[in-house]
Amino acid sequence: MPKKTLAKCSFCGKDQTQIEKLIVATEQIPVVSICNECVVICNRILAQKPDK
Ligand SMILES: [Zn+2]
Repeated sequence: MPKKTLAKCSFCGKDQTQIEKLIVATEQIPVVSICNECVVICNRILAQKPDK
């Protein structure tokens, strides 16, 4: 990844200077990434039991 390109979270739009960690899916074109904050949100959603 070029150093001048600042990777951003694809979910919340924050860049690497605003977040602790960024998980990048480099196999995807365009590259998608998710930050640690959005992972926490995702975990919260996944932990919810669906209403049936
Ligand atoms: Zn994010």
